[in-house]
Amino acid sequence: MRKINIAIDGHSSCGKSTLAKVIAEKFNYIYIDTGAMYRAVALYFMQNDILQNGIIELTKVATALNHIEVSFCYNSKTNKSETLLNGQNVENEIRGMQVSENVSKVSQLKEVRSKLVSLQQILGKEKGVVMDGRDIGTVVFPDAELKIFLTALPEIRIKRRYNELQSKGIKVSLEEVSKNINERDFNDQHRTENPLKKAPDAIEIDNSNLSLEEQNKMVLNLVQEKISE
Ligand code: C5P
Repeated sequence: MRKINIAIDGHSSCGKSTLAKVIAEKFNYIYIDTGAMYRAVALYFMQNDILQNGIIELTKVATALNHIEVSFCYNSKTNKSETLLNGQNVENEIRGMQVSENVSKVSQLKEVRSKLVSLQQILGKEKGVVMDGRDIGTVVFPDAELKIFLTALPEIRIKRRYNELQSKGIKVSLEEVSKNINERDFNDQHRTENPLKKAPDAIEIDNSNLSLEEQNKMVLNLVQEKISE
């Protein structure tokens, strides 16, 4: 069976990473969460006063990027991949609301995107990768053998994200989550650099009314078909 690259793009909190992990586990593929990479860069900018009160000091961006290394490690206790920023585990910090509120300002910068896109392309060079994000099927792997564009109604995505944060013990109101998701969706779709959009050859799946089982079954069948071609 041939090895392929699988691109999963879509709006915030529509279950891209959950789906990508299911595929990776079933087919023994490497899962790469590109949102975590943008979140790690946003965290670095926040920690180093490059991003303050929602404003980015643009003159400092290029130098800062030379000092940023984003990588992943495998946590055998949780059975999950975790994000490292310059060798330090930042998995919890990057998931918090502060980073969520700032990340789409950072991800619209051309220099940031060009650094992370190059890294993502290197990670997928040998194939056998499932990558989720906003521009994977359009920019990172325009030749990916399988492209999924995942979507769901905004109110459903907001509720799912709210429940996820609650389950992690992160205190946040439904209004805050709603504002954050709406803002990120808007910024991600309207930026000049690699905006979120469906690749013409992507298969769109609206999972608003699908159970996880139904969605996974549908996508695992698509993967199976592609790798058997
Ligand atoms: O996927 P996640 O919601 O964690 O992504 C966080 C943010 O990172 C997105 O809102 C978007 O601004 C940015 N992002 C991006 N391109 C990607 C992945 C994420 O711009 N490929």
